[in-house]
Amino acid sequence: MKALTLFTDRWGGVSEGAYQNFNLAFHVGDDPKAVAINRQILQQRHRTPPIVWMEQVHGDTIRQIQNADLDTLPACDALVTDRPDIALAVMVADCLPILMADETNGIIAAVHAGRNGTFLRIAPKTLRRMSELGADTGQIRVRIGPAIGPCCYEVDEKIAHIAKENFGDRYANGRYLDLKALNRDQLIEAGIKPEYIEISPLCTRCHKDLFSYRREQKTGRFAGLVWLEE
Ligand SMILES: [Zn+2]
Repeated sequence: MKALTLFTDRWGGVSEGAYQNFNLAFHVGDDPKAVAINRQILQQRHRTPPIVWMEQVHGDTIRQIQNADLDTLPACDALVTDRPDIALAVMVADCLPILMADETNGIIAAVHAGRNGTFLRIAPKTLRRMSELGADTGQIRVRIGPAIGPCCYEVDEKIAHIAKENFGDRYANGRYLDLKALNRDQLIEAGIKPEYIEISPLCTRCHKDLFSYRREQKTGRFAGLVWLEE
């Protein structure tokens, strides 16, 4: 079994205005017709199986997906599956899109880790769910996609303090948090091999080819996708 992954950027679609032009989210105020076309383009361009999208709520609920019934939109922030005929998607515009795959055992996951999700340790929790399905932690490869970097992720005093108290001083530089490092270390602590974690150096707020909520407020979402191929 082979696991395929990709991260989109803001180009290659049909959305207009603040959403130009490859917005993949319905909930941000874009023309739903444009979003539907963009999702279709995504699937056709990369020849993915049917894509399951989440209704992301900044929590730590993880859902196992057994079929690509697109009428039911699961409210959650992580998806896992062992099915090769389903692609899992996570949408972001500053939050971390985390994709995980154990190719040997054919188990994949897509995680939406914003500040809340990170504080709730959603990445290692998703890992545990993958193990319950039969994944071998030592074989899981992880991709952390473009997300807001420590260069731009400023939080208030109270939240910086919470991060330091709970996770250690090294994740906060004054009031700037490094959520990528925090998620990486949570995963290593949970048993992922450091050399199996790939982190995108791109910061969404710095990079105008990506959607960034912090930079633009009214904006679209790009996506991370993972799927299995026999
Ligand atoms: Zn930045």
